[in-house]
Amino acid sequence: IIGKIAKENGYRVYLVGGIVRDFILSKKSLDIDIIVEGDIEKIIKDYVKNRKISVYFFKEFMTATLKLENGIKFDFATARKESYEYPGAYPKVEKATIFEDLYRRDFTINTLAIEITEDRFGTLIDFFDGLKDIKEKRIKVLHQTSFIEDPIRILRALRFAGRFGYKLEKNTEKLLKLAVEEKLLQKAPTGRINLELNLTFDEENVLYILNLMDEYKVLRQIFPNCFINLEREVIIAKISEAINIYKVLFDLKIEKNSNYLMALMYHLPFDVSYFVLKKYHFDKSIKHFKYIFDFIDKFKNLPEKNIEFFKFLKTIPVEILPFSAIYFNFFEKSIEILKKEKEFKNIISGEDLKNIGIKPSPIYKKILSEIFKLYLDGKISSKKDAVDYVK
Ligand code: ATP
Repeated sequence: IIGKIAKENGYRVYLVGGIVRDFILSKKSLDIDIIVEGDIEKIIKDYVKNRKISVYFFKEFMTATLKLENGIKFDFATARKESYEYPGAYPKVEKATIFEDLYRRDFTINTLAIEITEDRFGTLIDFFDGLKDIKEKRIKVLHQTSFIEDPIRILRALRFAGRFGYKLEKNTEKLLKLAVEEKLLQKAPTGRINLELNLTFDEENVLYILNLMDEYKVLRQIFPNCFINLEREVIIAKISEAINIYKVLFDLKIEKNSNYLMALMYHLPFDVSYFVLKKYHFDKSIKHFKYIFDFIDKFKNLPEKNIEFFKFLKTIPVEILPFSAIYFNFFEKSIEILKKEKEFKNIISGEDLKNIGIKPSPIYKKILSEIFKLYLDGKISSKKDAVDYVK
């Protein structure tokens, strides 16, 4: 439909970026980015007419976001070119052709487009040999000054290389190393570094990407004195696993960034971590770091009794449970206890106490916590045991 409207108005529209790359790689992509050579307002107004769609226009950026009722989101942008006032700055934008729009992009694998204008629907546009680079598994910049214009691309290059298991193309690798030597990342806005690091921590292959960042000496430019040794490698791998397990089993609201940041900086004095976290706007993580440092004795002397361990577990902010559990060696125990907590709902409840004939009162809480303690110790293991015990 969008293609039809575009044609009627004499415009051209294209799917671009991650969605095209991921389509070629047969991977799922959540973002649908559409570039319009023409007036996006006109296209969108025609498209949403008589449809239940929310539209958000960002006129100064020449973009708009559409949200369909089924949750699908389209990001529209007018084809544009960008210029950077200084390395890493947020770009200034002006209208341009699709070629110019694709030419401003970071790597060839992200320059593919599929035209969706009616009559040309499905035409693959590949000005910069992106398809070949996808096939040959390489990350390649479009021009010699790419990392100078936008040093954030250093982080993006390593993130994509890590995500897809691609290599940096020879010249790109040389340019990246030069940009790192010149410490260009230090000129990039810290807010953009924050965004990139968060995206990295959200990746499946975090450890691999951090290893690449270490190998290319990028990690130590952001985190002082930070390198990936064997001990840290093991901790990071275990944290990734713990994050997944806690999420799948208990749906805990974990803050990935605090956990990985802690893994990268736990060996540093708090003041140093504080400085880095503040600089890159990880304000919430400061609270988490402080918690671990303040209660370090508690973590070093874990309670032996199950019920005491349960109480201790409940005092830890869930956001940083993975790091805490891995670093202080109580991951298995925490899973065992949390599973028991979850199962306990099927062992006994207020309803059971009522059926036994006990009138609802504050005593319920006392009875249930007494039985919970016995359940944690394995002294009660079924509803029958619990009801008999209460009787
Ligand atoms: P992801 O799968 O991580 O979302 P993506 O390719 O969709 O990957 P986005 O960060 O959403 O990445 O960016 C969308 C597109 O915008 C990219 O495909 C790329 O072409 C372009 N882009 C993003 N950041 C930059 C940058 N710093 N320099 C040049 N082009 C960029």
